[in-house]
Amino acid sequence: MSGHKGRIYLSPPHMSGDETKKIEEAFATNWIAPLGPMVDAFERETAAFAGVKAALALSSGTAALHLACELLGVGGGDLVFCSTLTFAATIAPFYHKGAECAFIDSEPESWNMSHKALKRAFDDYAEIGKKPKAVIIVNLYGQSCDMDKILDICGEREVPVIEDAAESLGARYKGKQTGSFGKFSVLSYNGNKIITTSGGGMLLSDDAEAIERARFLSAQARDPAPWYQHSTLGWNYRMSNVLAGIGLGQMCHIAERVAARRGIFDRYVRELGDIEGVSFMPEPEWSESNRWLTALTINPPAKRSSDLKAPPLSVIKHLESLDIESRPVWKPMHMQPVFEGSRYYSHCVDGRSEDIAAALFRDGMCLPSGSGMTDEQQTRVIDAFKEALS
Ligand SMILES: *Cc1c(COP(=O)(O)O)cnc(C)c1O
Repeated sequence: MSGHKGRIYLSPPHMSGDETKKIEEAFATNWIAPLGPMVDAFERETAAFAGVKAALALSSGTAALHLACELLGVGGGDLVFCSTLTFAATIAPFYHKGAECAFIDSEPESWNMSHKALKRAFDDYAEIGKKPKAVIIVNLYGQSCDMDKILDICGEREVPVIEDAAESLGARYKGKQTGSFGKFSVLSYNGNKIITTSGGGMLLSDDAEAIERARFLSAQARDPAPWYQHSTLGWNYRMSNVLAGIGLGQMCHIAERVAARRGIFDRYVRELGDIEGVSFMPEPEWSESNRWLTALTINPPAKRSSDLKAPPLSVIKHLESLDIESRPVWKPMHMQPVFEGSRYYSHCVDGRSEDIAAALFRDGMCLPSGSGMTDEQQTRVIDAFKEALS
């Protein structure tokens, strides 16, 4: 391919160099095995950063979601409400426990859970005397939900909120760090997230006792006895000391990583924002997103949409032909085959029901947004995007 300068990935890991120092320290002290001082320090630093009392480092964000599910005692037949516009890992642990999953639409202002749709779900289930055991909210693409509205609705009804902040580390709601709003909140350090440990997650809460319970469950639930004794059974979900070292090295740079991703988003807006039909994910005044992924919708004027077969897929295909990775917006959970027949509460505009998440999926895509992306690489993406739409 002429002028080929290497593949541009959607959101590759971005190492600072500090990680290897921490890994060497782990090796030098032979703290290779699970747990150790790096894990303790990573938990302390993350709890302090998010402004919560306790944190538990785990092997993945999915493991953290599972433990939140266990701590709240969600079981077979229990009802949970969940944002529909998300990655399947948000709901998977609840599904596996046999919970009834009802999905809640997004609002157009933030692309996150619509409080209007949430309220309708509560009212609807109240008629048959049912209340959810938990409401699972998601901070999509690094942007917070409208927390006050959602927490008010759930607080009045005494239903705990689980905050899936896997994509939003470093983002704020009304000045306060995300990951601090749920009864339990979850972070992910998967390879594509804003910082990474190559794979890992964190469970956060102000309920230090619950976090201690999760710590026990995450390390095979061994009773304090001289032999292996179990009053209950647990899981092997802890993060290793070596990987926590990577996390500590990454944590020092979180503010720079957020600034870099926001800068990338701003340049996309400057250079592509004037194209007819292109709109970027909005940021309400209460939100300071980390812009983990730059997300946008393409809604070409009717006369042009016939030439542009199924945007955004045609754009994604064109970018791929130039070795640029991009991706559609998450396919909503209520549209997934596995959840066929589940209840779904769409957003309402002027009393009319409107499926916002389905429209975002139809029109939406994400552009390469890695914090290590160079100006030249971003120029390549911008040129390719313009070409696809011309
Ligand atoms: C990445 C992600 C997860 C899962 O985290 P893992 O660490 O990959 O298990 C959960 N929810 C959302 C919204 C995510 O983006």
